[in-house]
Amino acid sequence: MAQVSKNARIGSAAHKHECPCGGEVKMKSVFTSGKMRNMAVCEKCDRRERRPRDFR
Ligand SMILES: [Zn+2]
Repeated sequence: MAQVSKNARIGSAAHKHECPCGGEVKMKSVFTSGKMRNMAVCEKCDRRERRPRDFR
């Protein structure tokens, strides 16, 4: 049981998201016009979306 298929992760992990570029998407808190907002940011290509699920 050492190997885990890549497909096994998709749909099972609730808080793990991946960018199409292969990087890991992390939630960040950003101040925008006086408001705290959570943004999803890809570590690899620095792409930003409002929600992690927007990465496809
Ligand atoms: Zn990316």
